[in-house]
Amino acid sequence: MRTVNILGATGSVGTSTLDLVERAPDAFRVRALTAHRDVAGLAAAAIRTRAELAVVADERSLPALREALAGTGIATAGGAEAVCEAAANGADWTMGAIVGCAGLRPTMAAIAQGGTVVLANKEPLVSAGDIITAAARASGATLLPADSEHNAIFQCLDPARVARVRRIILTASGGPFRDWTLDDMAAVTPAQAVAHPNWSMGAKISVDSATMMNKGLELIEAVRLFPVPSERIEIVIHRQSVIHSLVDYVDGSMLAQLGPSDMRVPIAHCLAWPDRMATPMEPLDLVRLGRLDFEAPDPERFRALALARAAAEAGGARPAIMNAANEVAVAAFLAGAIGFLEIAAIVDDTLQRYDPAAPETIDAVLDVDGEARRMAGERVKDGVA
Ligand code: NAD
Ligand code: MG
Repeated sequence: MRTVNILGATGSVGTSTLDLVERAPDAFRVRALTAHRDVAGLAAAAIRTRAELAVVADERSLPALREALAGTGIATAGGAEAVCEAAANGADWTMGAIVGCAGLRPTMAAIAQGGTVVLANKEPLVSAGDIITAAARASGATLLPADSEHNAIFQCLDPARVARVRRIILTASGGPFRDWTLDDMAAVTPAQAVAHPNWSMGAKISVDSATMMNKGLELIEAVRLFPVPSERIEIVIHRQSVIHSLVDYVDGSMLAQLGPSDMRVPIAHCLAWPDRMATPMEPLDLVRLGRLDFEAPDPERFRALALARAAAEAGGARPAIMNAANEVAVAAFLAGAIGFLEIAAIVDDTLQRYDPAAPETIDAVLDVDGEARRMAGERVKDGVA
């Protein structure tokens, strides 16, 4: 019996995790579930799983949560600090599925406990990856990647033979606009951008997939998680999203992980690791699939890829600035304040205007993050020149 926390339990990854946990009530006991302000979703999940504690990050939602859970015996708490306290409750296994850098402090709190910490939440790894991995080494925490590409690499990469890896190949679906012209992309609406062809995901990562910034974030995520430099990580468009990534060894063997495009597959891998557990998905039908296609991404239409590669190579504060500006620009696009192509333009502009020293602590990362957000916010208001 493993005790489990789910940070960001009401989101896309959070509900996929809950689905697996609820199917195996003898294997998992839920301790804490957290959400931003979706009281109804959080309370329902807490009651179904008989969680010990439910936490809303938005303190103003706490009275409603208390009311929803009155008489159930489930404890409640509210505020960003309460999310960190819940993450530090010593559970055996924690899913980090908050969206954005808002997950950074809770992730660090979970890692300090030394259990297994599963990272779906990629933005903290991008902004503070070296600090996060160092904290895991110090506490003895096991970090497992739930992002499907990184989970695939984790399954294919022999840690004892890293020196024999020629390349890592990150596959990308290319998102909903992979075949669109730049002119057409200029007029894209938020509804079009969140309608991903292969995956069902939260709004922010769906927009990131449409700009391909998601793959840029994942390039940096891969550099943080695996001892392979960014020059040896390639990005290939694979529109079926069946091969989730590949490792190419010097002898010519390429190992790939295949599976349905359902996050429950990599999450199950992390839930059971190093064992395996059954999932409810149909096995892949290769004959029905028929073919797998690959093509090179177009850097002209997807500017985010070059921005992310440059940030990965430069390191220091660059990934944190890129991520923060992207979070602001994506939120502005979803709110209808800027156009689709302005997202990458604002990220580029913020990177050009702001070049602080490498942050060495979480507080310093959050300072860089805050300043980059402020600068990107100016451009949202005033427009990019
Ligand atoms: P989502 O928007 O569906 O859910 C986000 C969750 O975080 C919700 O529970 C929400 O209540 C909570 N949250 C939001 N803001 C918060 C805040 N300020 N403080 C505390 N909690 C907050 O997002 P998602 O699609 O599930 O993605 C979660 C993370 O996993 C992201 O970092 C994303 O990049 C990554 N990821 C998602 C998928 C996917 O298939 N959805 C795949 C790979 C990686
Ligand atoms: Mg991914």
